[in-house]
Amino acid sequence: MHCPLCKTQYRPGYDLCRDCDADLVSNKEAGTEDVVLFWQSVNSSHIAQLADALRKANVPNYSRFAAGTKRPLWASSPAARLFAGEGAGEQGQIFVLASDLHKARRAANSARIPHVE
Ligand SMILES: [Zn+2]
Repeated sequence: MHCPLCKTQYRPGYDLCRDCDADLVSNKEAGTEDVVLFWQSVNSSHIAQLADALRKANVPNYSRFAAGTKRPLWASSPAARLFAGEGAGEQGQIFVLASDLHKARRAANSARIPHVE
């Protein structure tokens, strides 16, 4: 089993990703779900607010900071990554499943988070 969003592998018996709250898929179904970049912002508190709004709307989501930035290895959970990125001016990104994109947009609108590219 693995998470369709962050691609973490899980042993049989798990059915939800700890990080994303996404339903795990079997390895045979690998690659059948499209993951899309939903949001980008250098404002890490916007990223955190949006991740929170998505979670409340039951939209599985995966956030990370753009590659090439220095990130401590211990910061493996999304929350830890968000705090580690606080004020660093790095590009934060949130990914959702393509099938959840409409739901994710609605959640972002109702959370009134300004979209800054
Ligand atoms: Zn995941």
